[in-house]
Amino acid sequence: SLPVSKRVQRVKPSPTVALTGRVAQLKAEGKDIISLGVGEPDFDTPVHIADSGVEAIRKGFTRYTPVEGVAELKDAIIAKFKRENALDYKRNQILVSTGAKQTIFNLILAVVDPGDEVVVPAPYWVSYPDMVLLADGIPVMPYAGPEQGYKLTAAQLEAAITPKTRLFILNSPSNPTGAAYSAAELRALGDVLVKHPQVIICTDDMYEHIYWGKEPFVSLAQVCPELYDRVVTTNGVSKAYAMTGWRIGYCGGPIEIVTAMSTIQSQSTSNPSSIAQKAAITALNGDQECVREMNKSFKARHDFTVAGLNKLPGVTCLEGAGTFYAFAHVEKAMKIVGVKDDNAFAEHLLVHGGVAVVPGSGFGAPNHMRLSFATSMKNLEESLKRMEKTLRAAQ
Ligand code: PLP
Repeated sequence: SLPVSKRVQRVKPSPTVALTGRVAQLKAEGKDIISLGVGEPDFDTPVHIADSGVEAIRKGFTRYTPVEGVAELKDAIIAKFKRENALDYKRNQILVSTGAKQTIFNLILAVVDPGDEVVVPAPYWVSYPDMVLLADGIPVMPYAGPEQGYKLTAAQLEAAITPKTRLFILNSPSNPTGAAYSAAELRALGDVLVKHPQVIICTDDMYEHIYWGKEPFVSLAQVCPELYDRVVTTNGVSKAYAMTGWRIGYCGGPIEIVTAMSTIQSQSTSNPSSIAQKAAITALNGDQECVREMNKSFKARHDFTVAGLNKLPGVTCLEGAGTFYAFAHVEKAMKIVGVKDDNAFAEHLLVHGGVAVVPGSGFGAPNHMRLSFATSMKNLEESLKRMEKTLRAAQ
């Protein structure tokens, strides 16, 4: 076989991509599978947003743009940060990228040198540790389990930081757990971060608008203004506006860091799609009713799914404050079906129950499974029935 770099050999294949392949294989064999694996809204992009993309094509807005994104979109992002997060940024502090995934990858490449440490609380979004490995950095992953609501404590953060720590990545509401940090919890983390000036902070606010927590959503830089100079506030249109395929993510942050990120982007992908940028302007500046409608629907599905999961033998699931994922603890259910780990448990549900879920190990949380409820109520009802039947049959 042809040699590939050591860098790429360090990276694990994504568990969600692996699942998609496995589901496709079983479907091809004629099996009836309901997939609760996907990480994207099941809604179409709202028509007024999509129309802006079509108009961009028709009007010939189809050329290169500035690497960092067009001024009109940067202004829409500045207005969004001001309106929704009470954060002030100038144009030279904003970078638009091909998805927030690229934003975060740019940031990691911009600040991490070989051997530098990046604190990534587990359970984590699968991409963070592998992005750190691609940058020759070392992911440090303190575990926040169900007994602490899947949220990192200030003491854990303090213990995880060393002189080599360059970056701390915080995702709230969290993929995969749905947990969101309150202002007081962010303040406590902020008090630790204030003491470690070498640490840059990345807040991943992708699920800001898929949120139903008791307190209003808050972002770290908002709660800890003294950290403003070190925080890169990351967001995007993928989840909030059902625009995953358009690939627009963005951030606001310190000028030196954002400029460095832009340099990296300029030599990799250049500007994000001109067409998608036009659609994103409409998404951010337009009527936000579509966001509220989708959120309402996700909340109803969340309530239904979490209640159903907690009725399954050996399964417990905390309520989330947002996202479209339920993260269930399945250690006892694993014993019931007689499997040794969560990978085998997910495989059991897939083969015997016809339900595809993502094992928790991939998110740094063994003995769990992640279900996406970004699917119809009918599918959710049917998949809960199937899981119940499979688990009862093994009891
Ligand atoms: N951050 C989190 C926590 C996510 O779950 C995702 C998507 O799955 C992203 C970032 C990236 O989103 P996108 O690249 O579509 O903007």
